Amino acid sequence: MEKTIRLTLLPSRKKRKDLRDAQEKVREFANTLIPFKRRVKTGKEFHHLVYYRFKYLGFHSQLQENIQRRVYATKKVRRFTQFPLEFNFPRSGKLAQTERGNPVLSLSPLKERIAIPILQDGGWRKLKEYEHRGWEEHSCRVFYHRRKKKWVVHLNIRKKLPPPSQEIEGTIGVDVGRKVAAAITLNHPSFPLIERYLGKDIVWKQYQFAKRRRKLQSYKDKGSKKARRALKRLKMKEKNYNQTRCEQIAHEIVDLAVTTRSAIVIENIKGIKKKWRKRHSYGSKRKPTKKVKKLHSIRRELNSWSYSYFLSFLTSLAQQNRIPVITIDPRYTSQTCSRCGHISKKSRVTRGLYRCVSCGFEVNSDRNASRNISWKGLSSLGLSFYSSWSSSFSSFSSSFSSSFPRERKNFLFPVSVVEERSTFSNGSMTGPGSSTPRP
Ligand SMILES: [Zn+2]
Repeated sequence: MEKTIRLTLLPSRKKRKDLRDAQEKVREFANTLIPFKRRVKTGKEFHHLVYYRFKYLGFHSQLQENIQRRVYATKKVRRFTQFPLEFNFPRSGKLAQTERGNPVLSLSPLKERIAIPILQDGGWRKLKEYEHRGWEEHSCRVFYHRRKKKWVVHLNIRKKLPPPSQEIEGTIGVDVGRKVAAAITLNHPSFPLIERYLGKDIVWKQYQFAKRRRKLQSYKDKGSKKARRALKRLKMKEKNYNQTRCEQIAHEIVDLAVTTRSAIVIENIKGIKKKWRKRHSYGSKRKPTKKVKKLHSIRRELNSWSYSYFLSFLTSLAQQNRIPVITIDPRYTSQTCSRCGHISKKSRVTRGLYRCVSCGFEVNSDRNASRNISWKGLSSLGLSFYSSWSSSFSSFSSSFSSSFPRERKNFLFPVSVVEERSTFSNGSMTGPGSSTPRP
């Protein structure tokens, strides 16, 4: 598995010049290579054609190969305006220390090596942590960050991870929603049915961000420089917030999976996009009022919380903890009743509420989907300690809720995560997502 860590470099004036020169030289070389691409069919042929022809330029052979590979892989480009310097560890790049013990990145773009001090910031500490856990550096990309006005390096580290654990006893279904960031359901023989809504705050926060963004945008359109800067800051803040929350939620899910030895089940990404398109069409027959219209237009502006980042982070985190991640076919997960298994589009009453046409079961729709996902995962694992979509589900939960207080102390897992257990059995449970009025 691979990871990228961002570090900041602190070159002196002379080394800045060296780096700039090297970058310019590399860029020129890359541009001279472009016409040669037409004469070959494979990357190997390309290498044979140009490698010795341009050896006299004096690039480090590793660097030259990297440039050639990148040029060959880039499609439809007439001219490169910026080209990163790529180094491989330990041949053309190396992490080293000065005599005083300060970290430096030692690079050899041309004949000589340049050692550039590294800023010991959060990224650096993260790198040390990973090194401690047995990760190794294998390559890096050095370039000038125009906005930050700094030289930065993206350091790729890797580690061979052990295969996912075979001792899987249950599943955690994760439904990525918008009203709650993620609704999860744990299906496990020796744990209670744990259902949680994670990241309720994200939606509210994004609404706040969107409102603020709107205001600033209107000031900016009138020509305010201050507003333009504020808008820039706001965007950074929003991105930062989303990313942090994504990671926190993923950690929560993986922690639960580790404690309960469960697999994580998610829908594949394409399916989510499709589902969302449908979910967010406002299928009301009445004409929307002015207020509703305004609300909708703000909603449309909401950046969807970065679910693809979330899913990739979740997957990699699970991998590191030896938790298998199962992707399932997302079809019908939101239309199926999690009590009786009836499939109908009509059961989706509003965005938040699911009411089964067949058995009248009412449930928050994200929760309904996450249950179905966890069951689909169970059946794909070949585990079925109680059959999915059978009526035993409701009897299970009601018998459970009556006996809950007595058994509670026997569970290893903190009980606070089991929520709304009592309202669950009478079938009228509504989560935070179902605040939309019922028609
Ligand atoms: Zn039903």
